Amino acid sequence: MIRLYDTKTRSKQNLETLERGKVGMYVCGPTVYNRIHIGNARTFISFDVIRRYLMWRGFDVTFVQNVTDVDDKIIAKAAEEGRDAAEVAAEYTEAFIEDMRAAGVLDPDVRPKATEEIPAMIELVQELIDGGHAYEVDGDVYFAVRSYPAYGELSGRNVDEMESGHRELRAEIDGAGHVADRKRDPLDFALWKAAKPGEPAWESPWGMGRPGWHIECSAMSRKYLGLPFDIHGGGADLVFPHHENERAQSEAACGCAFANHWMHGGMLQVNSEKMSKSLGNFKLLHDVLESTDPAVLRFLMLQTHYRSPLDFSDERLAEADAALGRIKNAVKNLDWLLANAEDIPSPLDVRALMERTREAKMGFILAMDDDFNTCKALGEIFDFVADVNARTAGKTLAITDVPFVRDARALVVDLLGVLGVDVEAAAQEAEGTDGAYPAEVVGLAAEMAGYEGEDAAEAVDALLAVRSKARAAKDWPRADAVRDGLSSLGFAVEDTPQGPRVVRA
Ligand code: AMP
Ligand code: ZN
Repeated sequence: MIRLYDTKTRSKQNLETLERGKVGMYVCGPTVYNRIHIGNARTFISFDVIRRYLMWRGFDVTFVQNVTDVDDKIIAKAAEEGRDAAEVAAEYTEAFIEDMRAAGVLDPDVRPKATEEIPAMIELVQELIDGGHAYEVDGDVYFAVRSYPAYGELSGRNVDEMESGHRELRAEIDGAGHVADRKRDPLDFALWKAAKPGEPAWESPWGMGRPGWHIECSAMSRKYLGLPFDIHGGGADLVFPHHENERAQSEAACGCAFANHWMHGGMLQVNSEKMSKSLGNFKLLHDVLESTDPAVLRFLMLQTHYRSPLDFSDERLAEADAALGRIKNAVKNLDWLLANAEDIPSPLDVRALMERTREAKMGFILAMDDDFNTCKALGEIFDFVADVNARTAGKTLAITDVPFVRDARALVVDLLGVLGVDVEAAAQEAEGTDGAYPAEVVGLAAEMAGYEGEDAAEAVDALLAVRSKARAAKDWPRADAVRDGLSSLGFAVEDTPQGPRVVRA
Protein backbone atom coordinates (compact mmCIF):
# COMPACT_ATOMS: atom_id res chain seq x y z
CA MET A 1 0.00 0.00 0.00
CA ILE A 2 1.44 3.36 -1.02
CA ARG A 3 1.19 6.02 1.66
CA LEU A 4 1.72 9.69 1.03
CA TYR A 5 1.74 12.79 3.16
CA ASP A 6 -1.27 14.89 2.33
CA THR A 7 -0.96 18.63 2.88
CA LYS A 8 -4.68 19.12 3.48
CA THR A 9 -5.12 16.52 6.21
CA ARG A 10 -1.53 17.04 7.49
CA SER A 11 -1.10 13.31 7.78
CA LYS A 12 -0.03 10.28 5.80
CA GLN A 13 -2.85 8.78 3.79
CA ASN A 14 -3.20 5.66 1.70
CA LEU A 15 -3.06 6.50 -1.97
CA GLU A 16 -6.66 6.00 -3.07
CA THR A 17 -6.99 6.33 -6.81
CA LEU A 18 -10.30 7.32 -8.33
CA GLU A 19 -9.99 4.72 -11.03
CA ARG A 20 -8.34 1.42 -10.26
CA GLY A 21 -4.78 1.28 -11.59
CA LYS A 22 -4.80 4.85 -12.85
CA VAL A 23 -3.34 8.04 -11.45
CA GLY A 24 -4.03 11.55 -12.72
CA MET A 25 -1.38 14.02 -11.55
CA TYR A 26 -1.14 17.75 -12.00
CA VAL A 27 2.08 19.56 -11.06
CA CYS A 28 2.21 23.33 -11.51
CA GLY A 29 4.83 24.33 -14.05
CA PRO A 30 7.09 27.37 -14.21
CA THR A 31 6.44 30.96 -15.11
CA VAL A 32 8.68 31.37 -18.13
CA TYR A 33 10.54 34.67 -17.72
CA ASN A 34 13.98 33.18 -17.13
CA ARG A 35 15.71 29.79 -17.23
CA ILE A 36 14.63 27.72 -14.24
CA HIS A 37 16.81 27.60 -11.12
CA ILE A 38 17.86 24.52 -9.18
CA GLY A 39 15.05 25.14 -6.64
CA ASN A 40 12.44 24.75 -9.38
CA ALA A 41 14.40 21.74 -10.60
CA ARG A 42 14.24 20.17 -7.16
CA THR A 43 10.45 20.27 -7.16
CA PHE A 44 10.21 18.99 -10.73
CA ILE A 45 12.71 16.19 -10.09
CA SER A 46 10.84 15.16 -6.91
CA PHE A 47 7.60 14.77 -8.84
CA ASP A 48 9.43 13.03 -11.68
CA VAL A 49 10.61 10.41 -9.18
CA ILE A 50 7.11 10.06 -7.71
CA ARG A 51 5.65 9.63 -11.18
CA ARG A 52 8.32 7.11 -12.24
CA TYR A 53 7.77 5.09 -9.07
CA LEU A 54 3.99 4.99 -9.53
CA MET A 55 4.52 3.84 -13.12
CA TRP A 56 6.93 1.15 -11.99
CA ARG A 57 4.42 -0.02 -9.39
CA GLY A 58 2.01 -0.62 -12.25
CA PHE A 59 -0.11 2.53 -12.37
CA ASP A 60 -1.10 4.11 -15.62
CA VAL A 61 -0.11 7.70 -14.81
CA THR A 62 -1.37 10.75 -16.67
CA PHE A 63 0.91 13.65 -15.83
CA VAL A 64 -0.13 17.20 -16.68
CA GLN A 65 2.06 20.24 -16.21
CA ASN A 66 1.20 23.73 -17.36
CA VAL A 67 3.48 26.48 -18.57
CA THR A 68 2.57 29.93 -17.30
CA ASP A 69 3.41 31.99 -20.37
CA VAL A 70 1.47 35.16 -19.54
CA ASP A 71 2.22 36.87 -16.24
CA ASP A 72 3.39 40.16 -14.69
CA LYS A 73 6.97 38.92 -14.47
CA ILE A 74 7.08 38.03 -18.16
CA ILE A 75 5.59 41.39 -19.08
CA ALA A 76 8.12 43.20 -16.86
CA LYS A 77 11.05 41.27 -18.36
CA ALA A 78 9.83 42.00 -21.91
CA ALA A 79 9.50 45.72 -21.11
CA GLU A 80 13.00 45.74 -19.61
CA GLU A 81 14.46 44.19 -22.74
CA GLY A 82 12.25 46.11 -25.19
CA ARG A 83 10.81 42.84 -26.51
CA ASP A 84 7.44 41.31 -27.05
CA ALA A 85 6.12 39.34 -24.04
CA ALA A 86 5.18 36.41 -26.28
CA GLU A 87 8.73 36.26 -27.61
CA VAL A 88 10.23 36.20 -24.10
CA ALA A 89 7.78 33.48 -23.03
CA ALA A 90 8.49 31.36 -26.14
CA GLU A 91 12.24 31.59 -25.57
CA TYR A 92 12.05 30.44 -21.96
CA THR A 93 9.43 27.78 -22.61
CA GLU A 94 11.87 26.19 -25.02
CA ALA A 95 14.72 26.59 -22.53
CA PHE A 96 12.57 25.01 -19.81
CA ILE A 97 11.84 21.93 -21.93
CA GLU A 98 15.52 21.66 -22.85
CA ASP A 99 16.62 21.96 -19.20
CA MET A 100 14.08 19.38 -17.99
CA ARG A 101 15.21 16.87 -20.60
CA ALA A 102 18.84 17.52 -19.74
CA ALA A 103 18.00 16.78 -16.10
CA GLY A 104 16.41 13.46 -17.07
CA VAL A 105 12.86 14.55 -16.21
CA LEU A 106 10.25 12.75 -18.31
CA ASP A 107 8.09 14.92 -20.54
CA PRO A 108 4.57 15.37 -19.18
CA ASP A 109 1.76 13.67 -21.07
CA VAL A 110 0.20 17.09 -21.58
CA ARG A 111 2.00 20.43 -21.32
CA PRO A 112 -0.69 23.08 -21.83
CA LYS A 113 0.32 26.71 -22.22
CA ALA A 114 -1.81 29.37 -20.55
CA THR A 115 -1.97 31.48 -23.73
CA GLU A 116 -3.42 28.55 -25.66
CA GLU A 117 -6.12 27.80 -23.10
CA ILE A 118 -7.79 31.20 -22.74
CA PRO A 119 -11.24 29.96 -23.88
CA ALA A 120 -11.27 27.26 -21.17
CA MET A 121 -10.39 29.90 -18.56
CA ILE A 122 -13.04 32.34 -19.77
CA GLU A 123 -15.62 29.56 -19.59
CA LEU A 124 -14.65 28.77 -16.00
CA VAL A 125 -14.71 32.43 -14.93
CA GLN A 126 -18.17 32.78 -16.48
CA GLU A 127 -19.40 29.72 -14.57
CA LEU A 128 -18.11 31.28 -11.34
CA ILE A 129 -19.93 34.55 -12.07
CA ASP A 130 -23.12 32.65 -12.94
CA GLY A 131 -22.88 30.63 -9.74
CA GLY A 132 -22.47 33.76 -7.59
CA HIS A 133 -18.82 33.06 -6.75
CA ALA A 134 -17.32 35.90 -8.76
CA TYR A 135 -18.13 39.45 -9.81
CA GLU A 136 -16.96 41.98 -12.38
CA VAL A 137 -15.72 45.49 -11.68
CA ASP A 138 -14.78 47.60 -14.75
CA GLY A 139 -13.35 44.74 -16.76
CA ASP A 140 -11.70 42.98 -13.81
CA VAL A 141 -13.28 39.84 -12.41
CA TYR A 142 -12.72 38.80 -8.78
CA PHE A 143 -13.39 35.59 -6.93
CA ALA A 144 -15.60 36.12 -3.86
CA VAL A 145 -13.67 34.24 -1.20
CA ARG A 146 -16.55 34.38 1.31
CA SER A 147 -18.78 32.52 -1.16
CA TYR A 148 -16.68 29.37 -0.71
CA PRO A 149 -16.87 28.27 2.94
CA ALA A 150 -13.97 25.80 2.75
CA TYR A 151 -11.48 28.58 1.93
CA GLY A 152 -8.35 28.22 4.08
CA GLU A 153 -8.74 24.48 4.69
CA LEU A 154 -5.83 23.43 2.50
CA SER A 155 -3.29 25.81 3.99
CA GLY A 156 -4.75 25.69 7.51
CA ARG A 157 -5.69 29.37 7.56
CA ASN A 158 -8.61 31.02 9.25
CA VAL A 159 -10.45 33.43 6.98
CA ASP A 160 -11.43 35.84 9.78
CA GLU A 161 -7.85 36.15 10.99
CA MET A 162 -6.66 36.70 7.45
CA GLU A 163 -9.26 39.39 6.99
CA SER A 164 -8.18 41.40 10.01
CA GLY A 165 -4.56 41.17 8.84
CA HIS A 166 -5.64 42.55 5.50
CA ARG A 167 -7.60 45.35 7.12
CA GLU A 168 -4.51 46.60 8.95
CA LEU A 169 -2.50 46.41 5.76
CA ARG A 170 -5.24 48.27 3.88
CA ALA A 171 -5.32 51.02 6.45
CA GLU A 172 -1.59 51.50 5.97
CA ILE A 173 -1.84 51.56 2.20
CA ASP A 174 -4.84 53.88 2.17
CA GLY A 175 -3.12 56.05 4.74
CA ALA A 176 -0.19 56.36 2.35
CA GLY A 177 -2.55 57.85 -0.20
CA HIS A 178 -3.15 54.88 -2.48
CA VAL A 179 -6.42 54.34 -4.28
CA ALA A 180 -8.79 52.15 -2.31
CA ASP A 181 -9.25 48.59 -3.55
CA ARG A 182 -12.04 47.86 -5.97
CA LYS A 183 -12.63 44.46 -4.45
CA ARG A 184 -15.71 43.88 -2.32
CA ASP A 185 -13.61 42.05 0.20
CA PRO A 186 -9.84 42.38 0.66
CA LEU A 187 -9.49 38.59 0.52
CA ASP A 188 -10.94 38.38 -2.98
CA PHE A 189 -8.48 37.70 -5.77
CA ALA A 190 -8.38 38.34 -9.50
CA LEU A 191 -9.68 35.80 -12.00
CA TRP A 192 -9.44 38.16 -14.94
CA LYS A 193 -7.55 41.43 -15.30
CA ALA A 194 -8.65 44.26 -17.59
CA ALA A 195 -6.06 45.08 -20.27
CA LYS A 196 -3.50 47.78 -19.68
CA PRO A 197 -1.94 49.50 -22.70
CA GLY A 198 0.89 47.54 -24.30
CA GLU A 199 0.15 44.31 -22.44
CA PRO A 200 -0.95 41.03 -24.02
CA ALA A 201 -4.77 40.86 -24.03
CA TRP A 202 -7.58 38.64 -25.22
CA GLU A 203 -11.24 39.31 -25.92
CA SER A 204 -13.65 38.26 -23.21
CA PRO A 205 -17.24 38.93 -22.07
CA TRP A 206 -15.71 41.57 -19.75
CA GLY A 207 -13.69 43.33 -22.45
CA MET A 208 -10.05 42.92 -23.43
CA GLY A 209 -7.92 41.43 -20.68
CA ARG A 210 -5.83 38.55 -19.46
CA PRO A 211 -6.30 35.73 -16.94
CA GLY A 212 -5.15 35.82 -13.33
CA TRP A 213 -2.49 33.26 -12.44
CA HIS A 214 -4.56 30.81 -10.41
CA ILE A 215 -7.36 30.30 -12.90
CA GLU A 216 -5.14 28.62 -15.48
CA CYS A 217 -4.41 25.58 -13.33
CA SER A 218 -8.10 25.17 -12.44
CA ALA A 219 -9.07 25.31 -16.11
CA MET A 220 -6.29 23.06 -17.38
CA SER A 221 -6.54 20.37 -14.72
CA ARG A 222 -10.28 20.10 -15.32
CA LYS A 223 -9.82 19.99 -19.10
CA TYR A 224 -7.04 17.39 -19.17
CA LEU A 225 -7.72 15.25 -16.09
CA GLY A 226 -11.37 15.85 -15.26
CA LEU A 227 -12.56 16.52 -11.69
CA PRO A 228 -11.76 15.28 -9.21
CA PHE A 229 -8.29 13.96 -10.02
CA ASP A 230 -5.81 12.05 -7.87
CA ILE A 231 -2.72 14.08 -7.00
CA HIS A 232 -1.97 17.77 -7.13
CA GLY A 233 1.63 18.77 -6.53
CA GLY A 234 4.06 21.67 -6.38
CA GLY A 235 6.61 23.30 -4.11
CA ALA A 236 5.58 24.20 -0.55
CA ASP A 237 5.57 27.90 -1.48
CA LEU A 238 2.53 27.25 -3.67
CA VAL A 239 0.23 26.03 -0.88
CA PHE A 240 -0.90 29.57 -0.22
CA PRO A 241 -2.26 31.44 -2.02
CA HIS A 242 -1.90 29.56 -5.32
CA HIS A 243 -3.28 26.14 -4.42
CA GLU A 244 -5.80 27.47 -1.92
CA ASN A 245 -7.16 29.66 -4.72
CA GLU A 246 -7.07 26.91 -7.34
CA ARG A 247 -9.08 24.71 -5.03
CA ALA A 248 -11.60 27.44 -4.24
CA GLN A 249 -12.15 28.22 -7.93
CA SER A 250 -12.48 24.60 -9.01
CA GLU A 251 -14.67 23.37 -6.17
CA ALA A 252 -16.91 26.45 -6.22
CA ALA A 253 -17.46 26.03 -9.97
CA CYS A 254 -18.16 22.31 -10.07
CA GLY A 255 -19.61 21.72 -6.63
CA CYS A 256 -17.34 18.69 -6.39
CA ALA A 257 -13.92 17.86 -4.99
CA PHE A 258 -10.81 19.13 -6.81
CA ALA A 259 -7.72 17.05 -5.98
CA ASN A 260 -7.91 13.97 -3.75
CA HIS A 261 -4.33 14.24 -2.52
CA TRP A 262 -2.16 17.32 -2.13
CA MET A 263 1.60 16.87 -2.19
CA HIS A 264 4.17 19.58 -1.62
CA GLY A 265 7.94 19.47 -1.85
CA GLY A 266 10.36 21.26 0.47
CA MET A 267 12.44 24.22 -0.62
CA LEU A 268 15.99 24.02 -1.86
CA GLN A 269 18.56 26.17 -0.11
CA VAL A 270 22.16 26.91 -1.04
CA ASN A 271 24.74 26.46 1.72
CA SER A 272 21.86 26.50 4.24
CA GLU A 273 20.61 29.90 3.08
CA LYS A 274 17.57 30.82 1.07
CA MET A 275 18.54 31.02 -2.59
CA SER A 276 18.15 34.57 -3.82
CA LYS A 277 19.67 36.91 -6.35
CA SER A 278 20.59 39.43 -3.66
CA LEU A 279 22.62 36.86 -1.72
CA GLY A 280 24.50 35.97 -4.90
CA ASN A 281 23.80 32.25 -4.44
CA PHE A 282 21.28 31.96 -7.21
CA LYS A 283 21.96 28.98 -9.48
CA LEU A 284 20.31 28.17 -12.76
CA LEU A 285 19.85 24.50 -13.56
CA HIS A 286 21.38 25.05 -16.99
CA ASP A 287 24.60 26.43 -15.46
CA VAL A 288 24.88 23.64 -12.89
CA LEU A 289 24.45 21.00 -15.60
CA GLU A 290 27.28 22.54 -17.63
CA SER A 291 29.73 21.07 -15.15
CA THR A 292 27.69 18.39 -13.39
CA ASP A 293 26.45 15.02 -14.58
CA PRO A 294 22.61 15.15 -14.25
CA ALA A 295 22.75 11.76 -12.52
CA VAL A 296 24.96 13.29 -9.81
CA LEU A 297 22.60 16.23 -9.26
CA ARG A 298 19.67 13.83 -8.98
CA PHE A 299 21.64 11.63 -6.59
CA LEU A 300 22.21 14.65 -4.35
CA MET A 301 18.51 15.44 -4.39
CA LEU A 302 17.43 11.86 -3.71
CA GLN A 303 19.51 11.81 -0.55
CA THR A 304 17.01 14.15 1.12
CA HIS A 305 13.34 13.32 1.56
CA TYR A 306 11.25 15.34 -0.90
CA ARG A 307 9.36 17.17 1.87
CA SER A 308 12.45 18.27 3.80
CA PRO A 309 14.44 21.37 2.98
CA LEU A 310 17.29 20.40 0.69
CA ASP A 311 20.72 21.86 1.11
CA PHE A 312 22.69 22.33 -2.08
CA SER A 313 26.44 22.87 -1.83
CA ASP A 314 29.56 21.95 -3.75
CA GLU A 315 30.55 19.56 -0.96
CA ARG A 316 27.26 17.72 -1.19
CA LEU A 317 27.64 17.57 -4.94
CA ALA A 318 31.10 16.04 -4.52
CA GLU A 319 29.70 13.52 -2.02
CA ALA A 320 26.93 12.58 -4.42
CA ASP A 321 29.49 12.18 -7.18
CA ALA A 322 31.56 9.83 -5.02
CA ALA A 323 28.49 7.84 -3.95
CA LEU A 324 27.29 7.39 -7.52
CA GLY A 325 30.86 6.53 -8.52
CA ARG A 326 30.90 3.66 -6.00
CA ILE A 327 27.75 2.20 -7.52
CA LYS A 328 29.05 2.62 -11.06
CA ASN A 329 32.25 0.81 -10.10
CA ALA A 330 30.34 -1.99 -8.44
CA VAL A 331 28.24 -2.49 -11.57
CA LYS A 332 31.36 -2.50 -13.74
CA ASN A 333 33.02 -5.03 -11.48
CA LEU A 334 29.97 -7.27 -11.76
CA ASP A 335 30.20 -6.91 -15.54
CA TRP A 336 33.78 -8.05 -15.36
CA LEU A 337 32.94 -11.01 -13.17
CA LEU A 338 30.06 -12.02 -15.42
CA ALA A 339 32.18 -11.76 -18.54
CA ASN A 340 34.94 -13.85 -16.99
CA ALA A 341 32.98 -16.67 -15.40
CA GLU A 342 34.59 -20.09 -15.74
CA ASP A 343 33.49 -23.69 -15.68
CA ILE A 344 34.51 -24.24 -12.05
CA PRO A 345 32.71 -25.17 -8.82
CA SER A 346 30.69 -22.21 -7.54
CA PRO A 347 32.46 -20.06 -4.94
CA LEU A 348 29.12 -18.43 -3.97
CA ASP A 349 26.14 -19.28 -1.82
CA VAL A 350 23.75 -18.59 -4.68
CA ARG A 351 20.65 -19.30 -2.65
CA ALA A 352 21.67 -16.65 -0.13
CA LEU A 353 22.47 -14.21 -2.94
CA MET A 354 19.07 -14.81 -4.51
CA GLU A 355 17.38 -14.30 -1.16
CA ARG A 356 19.36 -11.08 -0.58
CA THR A 357 18.35 -9.78 -4.02
CA ARG A 358 14.70 -10.36 -3.26
CA GLU A 359 15.10 -8.71 0.13
CA ALA A 360 16.74 -5.63 -1.40
CA LYS A 361 13.87 -5.18 -3.83
CA MET A 362 11.35 -5.47 -1.01
CA GLY A 363 13.33 -3.01 1.13
CA PHE A 364 13.31 -0.52 -1.72
CA ILE A 365 9.56 -0.91 -2.23
CA LEU A 366 8.79 -0.51 1.46
CA ALA A 367 10.88 2.66 1.62
CA MET A 368 9.26 4.18 -1.46
CA ASP A 369 5.76 3.10 -0.44
CA ASP A 370 6.25 5.10 2.73
CA ASP A 371 5.76 8.58 1.27
CA PHE A 372 8.48 8.12 -1.36
CA ASN A 373 11.40 7.89 1.02
CA THR A 374 14.15 8.06 -1.59
CA CYS A 375 16.81 8.52 1.05
CA LYS A 376 15.98 5.19 2.66
CA ALA A 377 15.50 3.55 -0.75
CA LEU A 378 19.00 4.63 -1.78
CA GLY A 379 20.30 3.25 1.51
CA GLU A 380 18.80 -0.13 0.58
CA ILE A 381 20.56 -0.02 -2.78
CA PHE A 382 23.88 0.91 -1.14
CA ASP A 383 23.64 -1.87 1.42
CA PHE A 384 22.81 -4.35 -1.28
CA VAL A 385 25.70 -3.25 -3.48
CA ALA A 386 28.10 -3.49 -0.55
CA ASP A 387 26.81 -6.96 0.26
CA VAL A 388 27.11 -8.22 -3.31
CA ASN A 389 30.64 -6.77 -3.43
CA ALA A 390 31.57 -8.57 -0.24
CA ARG A 391 30.17 -11.85 -1.54
CA THR A 392 32.05 -11.68 -4.83
CA ALA A 393 35.28 -9.85 -3.95
CA GLY A 394 38.42 -11.61 -5.08
CA LYS A 395 36.45 -14.48 -6.60
CA THR A 396 36.07 -15.89 -10.06
CA LEU A 397 32.48 -16.75 -10.81
CA ALA A 398 31.37 -20.17 -11.90
CA ILE A 399 29.25 -20.15 -15.05
CA THR A 400 26.41 -21.56 -12.95
CA ASP A 401 26.52 -18.39 -10.79
CA VAL A 402 25.86 -16.15 -13.77
CA PRO A 403 22.04 -16.01 -13.62
CA PHE A 404 22.12 -15.07 -9.93
CA VAL A 405 24.78 -12.40 -10.25
CA ARG A 406 23.09 -11.07 -13.37
CA ASP A 407 19.84 -10.70 -11.40
CA ALA A 408 21.64 -8.84 -8.64
CA ARG A 409 23.24 -6.47 -11.15
CA ALA A 410 19.95 -6.00 -13.01
CA LEU A 411 18.18 -5.08 -9.78
CA VAL A 412 20.67 -2.29 -9.02
CA VAL A 413 20.28 -0.86 -12.51
CA ASP A 414 16.48 -1.25 -12.44
CA LEU A 415 15.95 0.37 -9.04
CA LEU A 416 18.20 3.30 -9.85
CA GLY A 417 16.30 3.64 -13.11
CA VAL A 418 13.06 3.94 -11.14
CA LEU A 419 14.62 6.93 -9.39
CA GLY A 420 15.60 8.36 -12.76
CA VAL A 421 19.32 7.55 -12.51
CA ASP A 422 20.58 5.71 -15.56
CA VAL A 423 23.62 4.14 -13.98
CA GLU A 424 24.75 2.40 -17.17
CA ALA A 425 24.62 5.59 -19.21
CA ALA A 426 26.37 7.48 -16.41
CA ALA A 427 29.16 4.91 -16.36
CA GLN A 428 29.60 5.01 -20.12
CA GLU A 429 29.53 8.77 -20.20
CA ALA A 430 32.24 8.97 -17.60
CA GLU A 431 34.50 6.74 -19.63
CA GLY A 432 33.52 7.31 -23.22
CA THR A 433 33.48 3.59 -23.93
CA ASP A 434 30.77 1.00 -24.15
CA GLY A 435 32.95 -1.72 -22.65
CA ALA A 436 34.05 -2.32 -19.09
CA TYR A 437 37.37 -0.53 -19.67
CA PRO A 438 38.26 2.94 -20.83
CA ALA A 439 39.46 3.33 -24.41
CA GLU A 440 42.90 4.40 -23.11
CA VAL A 441 43.82 0.81 -22.25
CA VAL A 442 44.18 0.15 -25.98
CA GLY A 443 46.93 2.80 -26.21
CA LEU A 444 48.56 1.50 -23.05
CA ALA A 445 48.59 -2.07 -24.42
CA ALA A 446 49.97 -0.87 -27.76
CA GLU A 447 52.82 0.81 -25.91
CA MET A 448 53.63 -1.85 -23.31
CA ALA A 449 52.51 -5.09 -24.95
CA GLY A 450 52.75 -4.38 -28.66
CA TYR A 451 48.99 -4.90 -28.90
CA GLU A 452 47.70 -3.92 -32.35
CA GLY A 453 43.93 -4.34 -32.04
CA GLU A 454 41.15 -1.99 -30.97
CA ASP A 455 39.36 -4.04 -28.33
CA ALA A 456 39.68 -2.80 -24.72
CA ALA A 457 39.11 -6.20 -23.10
CA GLU A 458 41.74 -7.83 -25.35
CA ALA A 459 44.10 -4.99 -24.56
CA VAL A 460 43.72 -5.70 -20.84
CA ASP A 461 44.44 -9.38 -21.45
CA ALA A 462 47.57 -8.45 -23.40
CA LEU A 463 48.74 -6.22 -20.54
CA LEU A 464 48.13 -8.97 -17.99
CA ALA A 465 50.03 -11.45 -20.15
CA VAL A 466 53.04 -9.10 -20.23
CA ARG A 467 52.84 -8.68 -16.46
CA SER A 468 52.65 -12.45 -15.84
CA LYS A 469 55.62 -13.07 -18.13
CA ALA A 470 57.61 -10.33 -16.42
CA ARG A 471 56.84 -11.75 -12.98
CA ALA A 472 57.79 -15.25 -14.07
CA ALA A 473 61.13 -13.81 -15.27
CA LYS A 474 61.44 -11.82 -12.01
CA ASP A 475 61.49 -8.64 -14.12
CA TRP A 476 59.82 -6.64 -11.34
CA PRO A 477 60.27 -3.17 -12.87
CA ARG A 478 58.42 -4.30 -15.98
CA ALA A 479 55.65 -5.99 -14.00
CA ASP A 480 55.29 -2.85 -11.87
CA ALA A 481 55.19 -0.65 -14.95
CA VAL A 482 52.14 -2.55 -16.21
CA ARG A 483 50.52 -2.26 -12.79
CA ASP A 484 51.24 1.50 -12.65
CA GLY A 485 49.92 2.02 -16.16
CA LEU A 486 46.63 0.37 -15.26
CA SER A 487 46.54 2.22 -11.98
CA SER A 488 46.83 5.56 -13.79
CA LEU A 489 43.57 4.63 -15.54
CA GLY A 490 41.87 3.83 -12.24
CA PHE A 491 42.39 0.06 -12.16
CA ALA A 492 44.19 -2.31 -9.84
CA VAL A 493 45.50 -5.79 -10.56
CA GLU A 494 44.26 -8.48 -8.17
CA ASP A 495 45.88 -11.92 -8.04
CA THR A 496 43.29 -14.67 -7.58
CA PRO A 497 43.70 -18.47 -7.52
CA GLN A 498 42.48 -18.41 -11.12
CA GLY A 499 45.11 -15.88 -12.12
CA PRO A 500 45.34 -12.09 -12.17
CA ARG A 501 42.36 -9.89 -12.86
CA VAL A 502 41.79 -6.19 -13.24
CA VAL A 503 39.36 -4.38 -10.94
CA ARG A 504 38.41 -0.80 -10.50
CA ALA A 505 40.65 0.83 -7.90
P1 AMP B 1 7.49 29.29 -10.18
O1 AMP B 1 7.97 29.42 -11.59
O2 AMP B 1 8.06 30.29 -9.25
O3 AMP B 1 5.98 29.20 -10.09
O4 AMP B 1 8.05 27.90 -9.61
C1 AMP B 1 7.86 26.67 -10.26
C2 AMP B 1 7.96 25.57 -9.24
O5 AMP B 1 9.21 25.61 -8.54
C3 AMP B 1 6.89 25.62 -8.15
O6 AMP B 1 6.41 24.31 -7.90
C4 AMP B 1 7.62 26.17 -6.94
O7 AMP B 1 7.04 25.72 -5.74
C5 AMP B 1 8.99 25.56 -7.13
N1 AMP B 1 10.06 26.30 -6.43
C6 AMP B 1 10.36 27.62 -6.50
N2 AMP B 1 11.43 27.92 -5.71
C7 AMP B 1 11.83 26.76 -5.13
C8 AMP B 1 12.88 26.38 -4.22
N3 AMP B 1 13.77 27.26 -3.74
N4 AMP B 1 12.95 25.08 -3.84
C9 AMP B 1 12.08 24.16 -4.32
N5 AMP B 1 11.08 24.45 -5.17
C10 AMP B 1 10.94 25.73 -5.59
ZN1 ZN C 1 -0.98 25.86 -10.36
